[in-house]
Amino acid sequence: MLQLSINTFILRVEIVTTGWVEMELVNCGRCGKLQVLRPDTLCKDCQQIYIAEAQIVKNYIKTNPGATIMDVVQFTGYPMRRINEILER
Ligand SMILES: [Zn+2]
Repeated sequence: MLQLSINTFILRVEIVTTGWVEMELVNCGRCGKLQVLRPDTLCKDCQQIYIAEAQIVKNYIKTNPGATIMDVVQFTGYPMRRINEILER
């Protein structure tokens, strides 16, 4: 935790001193890892996981057309919020 905040500080100082003002760092929406700001807020690692999870959810719905969100939650073990996010895209 302390290590992370030191890294954050160093990265921010670097941005100021090199003048990369347009490069903004944000925390990943899932794991909290720092990344350069992008339209979606997941880092590269979490994006890979997201794609894999979305595949599983979509496959399940395809093979179980009558399934409810609760069925998907039970089958995948993912939080309902995450499944809604996948289905909204
Ligand atoms: Zn992440």
